[in-house]
Amino acid sequence: MILTITMNPSVDISYPLAKFNINDINRVKDVRKTAGGKGLNVTRGIKYSGIDVLASGIVGGTTGEYIQKKLTENDIKYDFYITKQESRNCIAILHEGNQTEILESGPVLTEQDVIHFFNHYQTLLSQAKVITISGSLPQGFPVNFYVQLIEKANKNNIPVLLDSSGNMLHEVLISQNKPYLIKPNKSELQQILQVNIDEQNIDSLISAVNHPLLDNIAFVIVSLGKNGAFARCHGQYYRVTIPRINVVNPVGSGDVTLAGLAVGIHQNEPVEVMLKRAMTMGMLNTMESQTGFVNMQNYDGYFQQVVVQQVMDK
Ligand code: ADP
Repeated sequence: MILTITMNPSVDISYPLAKFNINDINRVKDVRKTAGGKGLNVTRGIKYSGIDVLASGIVGGTTGEYIQKKLTENDIKYDFYITKQESRNCIAILHEGNQTEILESGPVLTEQDVIHFFNHYQTLLSQAKVITISGSLPQGFPVNFYVQLIEKANKNNIPVLLDSSGNMLHEVLISQNKPYLIKPNKSELQQILQVNIDEQNIDSLISAVNHPLLDNIAFVIVSLGKNGAFARCHGQYYRVTIPRINVVNPVGSGDVTLAGLAVGIHQNEPVEVMLKRAMTMGMLNTMESQTGFVNMQNYDGYFQQVVVQQVMDK
């Protein structure tokens, strides 16, 4: 089973409007509400791939109940720590080809919540073969909290796939407790390493993934949007190229890519297959209007078109 961790999930609300009237009333007919948060996109990607998955993290209040209701509707198993605070709403207003977002920062949690969640997490470890951790931490959690989750998983020999950024990722990279895999996109990697990466230049990519901050991480997968990915896997380098496709909504592609990587590791797939799977999942997500959804009927056709090429360091 794959355990996915989403520490600050949300009810994602989308309001499509022909015109967005500022300082006036806007009436919406086609409201869409989904269980949101990067880790829940990962969860759906794993579920669509037919692998047993359990979603965990923290929810609370009526919003938290709604998140669980939506997961139940999708037949997704979950076991959250329930806090007394209310989970957040995130609103996307889709208007005139634009997307205006209003994102609540979410509940401010207490030291007790930190302790209770950590205990809850420990009770789930015996079921997990692979763990994914995605997104940011709720307010009130220490910035190095992911280090603690990874340390516990490593002690239990469970590989952790981490998709986070900024301070939370930095804390992990400078710690002794390394995740098994990270999947930054190019701008996240540039920001964390404080370097410029030329994605057309193999030397630039190799030098980035060999940065000392990334030492002792078995898999570093740099996703490059329409240009596929570059990966360092157990000391070997791979350039992954993907076909040109019609993109409807790229939001959440990185999350669904992580789902593909988690499935590949869970199934002990060869690196080439795992990378092709991950890219195919990312592409399928970009072809759907709904964030974090994929149509698996198109999987085989796109999988065949992904090219994985091993490259050598000079
Ligand atoms: P993130 O969503 O984390 O920023 P990326 O934008 O790199 O991550 O996207 C992750 C993966 O999704 C890519 O490696 C690719 O497989 C797919 N993808 C994303 N954007 C596009 C695009 N414009 N065209 C084709 N595939 C895409």
